Formats: sequence, structure tokens, C-alpha cells
Amino acid sequence: MKVIDHINHSEKTLISFEILPPLKGKGIQSLYQHLDPLMEFKPAFINVTYHRSEHIFKKRVDGSFEKVVVRKRPGTESICAAIMNKYNVDTVPHLICGGFNINETEDALINLNYLGIDNVLVLRGDAAKNESSFEAEPGGHQYAIDLLKQVKNLNSGIYLEGELKNSMQTKFCIGVAGYPEKHFEAPNMESDLKHLKEKVDAGADYIVTQMFFDNSKYFSFVNACREIGITVPIIPGLKPVYTKKQINILPKTFHIDLPTELSNEMQQCETDSEVEKVGTEWLLHQSKELKKAGVPVLHYYTLGRPHIVADVVRKLM
Ligand code: FAD
Repeated sequence: MKVIDHINHSEKTLISFEILPPLKGKGIQSLYQHLDPLMEFKPAFINVTYHRSEHIFKKRVDGSFEKVVVRKRPGTESICAAIMNKYNVDTVPHLICGGFNINETEDALINLNYLGIDNVLVLRGDAAKNESSFEAEPGGHQYAIDLLKQVKNLNSGIYLEGELKNSMQTKFCIGVAGYPEKHFEAPNMESDLKHLKEKVDAGADYIVTQMFFDNSKYFSFVNACREIGITVPIIPGLKPVYTKKQINILPKTFHIDLPTELSNEMQQCETDSEVEKVGTEWLLHQSKELKKAGVPVLHYYTLGRPHIVADVVRKLM
């Protein structure tokens, strides 16, 4: 079932989770162990992130170095299918521009369709580790909107070869990313919102936000979106804090602020388990306020800490 249908058919705030594929070499059981404690909350859907390949330099026997491409977390599409099969829950694979040409993207979409997956979250992806800024693959997409248009075309039965005779139309529900604290490359919020509106006008069914720790940023973002005519659901993305290191890592990695009150509380903690308690309370408070405001879905980035999210959702219900 499509994410947008879940939202439209529900009068209450839904719950959804986001997970990472396991590191290469770990079996899918590690993922099931992560998901098992979350399934009692009957999530409407589960997102599975996509991680592009990285380059490493491997030393040859003669001492020279060889550039090797590695995928550290492969398997997004098949994990989605496995989760659907095991838990009977809808999944949303993340699809990125980076590292793909349009033919590979089309093949991936056809595979997803065969697997019975109705949803995709279309993203540009970040720059590869060896690039200073994002570079599209030769013959690939530069922006998420270009990828979105390819999915829309397939939904109309238009393949790269043009309209194939009696071609199958896919029916993907399309989500896009939004940034309550602005995407880090955008010169200003106005420009970022303009590009977000373009994605919605091109056919995005809903928006999922980058994580935020101050609900007022989400509410302002939603207001700003509504003011420029973005009417689709805007799903808040939420993440718990659980280690002291995150005080610096989260702003650096995700270009977001930690509110002073939260960072002060984290700073005063002596151990990470104390930080986890602070993070759990903060997430619960955020979730309660957002639920009260009637957000369509609470989308939790569970990333390695399912028990914290389970604790919060249990208290929320
Ligand atoms: P875009 O919408 O293409 O925007 C990128 C930048 O370009 C923005 O600054 C925007 O303002 C600007 N822009 C957009 N269109 C134009 C235009 N036509 N002309 C000029 N400027 C333009 N990354 C992964 O690699 N894998 C994942 O699984 C993943 N999941 C994510 C999930 C969510 C909910 C979020 C919020 C992010 C996720 N990301 C993921 C990170 C994301 O790929 C990066 O934030 C990336 O830098 C931007 O992606 P985007 O889809 O927002 O890009």
C-alpha cells in the first residue's frame, strides 16, 4: 500500500521507522533483531536507506595501490522485499541519484515494481567521500527532481526508449526530503523552499524532513511550505540522542542545531547511558507535542537504537 494512502485513510498519527541495511558481512538476522522489538507498534511503513559505494585503495603485492569500489551496506531493495515478506508491512526504499546512470535507475525501479514495492523516497544523495561536492554520474541525475521525473514517467508507462508498446505503468508513491533548518548547500531558506516546491509540483506525494530537535523549527517550516502553496503531508523525522559525542557529530553531519537546553543537559551527563536517558525524554517530549499538533506520521530514525524508540513509542500510545 502507498504511504499516501496510509496517511489519507488514517485519522490518527501513524508511526513509521527508518533503518539502515546491515554492514556487508552481517546477515539479515541482525536486521530482524533490530526490527523485532519495533513491530508491536504496527508501523505503517518502514524506510530502508541507500548507501552509495565508496572507493578504497588496496595495496597490491608489489606495493602499488589499486582503487577498489566497495559497497558497505548493500541490499536496500531486497531488504525491503524481505521485510515485507516477514512482517507484512509496507516498505519505502530510498533511491538516490549519486552513483547511478538513468538506465541503472530504470532497472532498479522495474525490480522494485516486480517485488511489489509501491513506494520510493527519491533523493539526490550526498557527495561521494572522495568528492568535495556532489557530482552526478555520467548519464545520471543532478537533482532529486530529475530522478522524481523519471519515476513519474515510469508511472505513466514512459520508459527510456519512449513509450513501449503495451508497456506496464508503475504506480510508485513518491516521497522527497525537506529540511526545516535548510539544506546545507542552499544559499537561503527561500531558495531551498522554492526547489522543494518544484519537487512537489513535479509530483511528490509527501515530504519527510531531516531530523530536528526543536519542534518550533518544524512548525515554522510547515508554515513556510503552506505559505508558498505546498499542500502535501510533511512527515517529521525524529532521532534520539544517546552519546555525548553527538553534541558535535550531529550538527557536523546533518547541518542541524541542537537546542541549548538539550546540549547543556547532554554536556552535564557523565556517561552515555545518562545521555540516553536525556535523549529518550527529549524524544518523548517532541513526539507528544507533534502528535498533539496532529502530524500525519511520526517517522523515527532508529539507527542502531531500536530500544530507545520502542520505549518512547510505548509511552506515547
Ligand atoms: P535535492 O532536492 O536535489 O536538493 C539538493 C540541493 O540542491 C538543495 O540545496 C536544493 O535547494 C538544491 N536544488 C534542488 N534543485 C535545484 C535546482 N534545480 N537548481 C539548483 N539547486 C537545486 N542520502 C543517502 O545517500 N541515502 C539515503 O538513504 C538518504 N536518506 C535521506 C532521508 C531523508 C529524510 C533526508 C532528509 C535525507 C536523506 N539523505 C540520504 C541525504 C540526502 O541525500 C542529502 O541531504 C542530499 O545532500 C540532498 O538530497 P535531496 O534529495 O534533498 O536533494
